[in-house]
Amino acid sequence: MKIIYHPLMLETYDSTPAGALGRLESAVEILSKQSGYEFIEPSLATEEQILRAHTKRLMKKVERRSHLSRMSLLAAGGAILAGELAVKGEPVFALIRPPGHHASEDSHWGFCYYNNIAVSLLDLCAKGLINSAFILDFDLHDGDGNINILGDDKRFTIYNPNGNGDEQYLADTKRALDDSPDVDIIVASAGFDEYEGDWGGNLSTDAFRKIGKLMYDFAEERCQGRRYGLLEGGYNFGDLGKNVLAFCEGLRGNH
Ligand SMILES: [Zn+2]
Repeated sequence: MKIIYHPLMLETYDSTPAGALGRLESAVEILSKQSGYEFIEPSLATEEQILRAHTKRLMKKVERRSHLSRMSLLAAGGAILAGELAVKGEPVFALIRPPGHHASEDSHWGFCYYNNIAVSLLDLCAKGLINSAFILDFDLHDGDGNINILGDDKRFTIYNPNGNGDEQYLADTKRALDDSPDVDIIVASAGFDEYEGDWGGNLSTDAFRKIGKLMYDFAEERCQGRRYGLLEGGYNFGDLGKNVLAFCEGLRGNH
């Protein structure tokens, strides 16, 4: 399974919990020790690719902060590469930041700058590689940016599951996937802040594995194995690694 990652992702770029030093180390360490994971470096997204999801005004605003701008373009470029590989039918996880699901066309908040999922999906559509997608946003917070950019577009189905504890949450996720129209690909806004040791205090590590498995099953049955996830939230730095690994194991079909 491919992990999209660049060493620059370890650097801090703003003063938010998502951009803090030390956030990704546990994930890099655990995935690099595990067999079956290949790290691949992305390149920067182009202006044309960003402007498929955002206004020129927003891009100019981000560009005023050069290090943040570079990191944001690299994260979006990572999302694009993840989508390009996933469309071939292999599972991919992008270990990228800043996250993106709170970034709308012309505004951003919630630690996000460019909407990585929207940039990735609109790039795949522009290349004629997909014409529809299911977006499973399992972050603690609703991805208002995903909804603002993609929600009115009939090609995209977006769902942010609910439920108290693993059982309810997984049942709600499965119900949404069962109700989905046929799509060309499934992608996760993969936030890990629902974790019992994180802000949400709700899901176990094993729940992330099961969410990955639900996506694997969905992809096998409905969209030729095409599936990928992009990192969004997750602020228990020490446990982020084991939660990302659990999700990836489910996503790749190692149950
Ligand atoms: Zn969140």
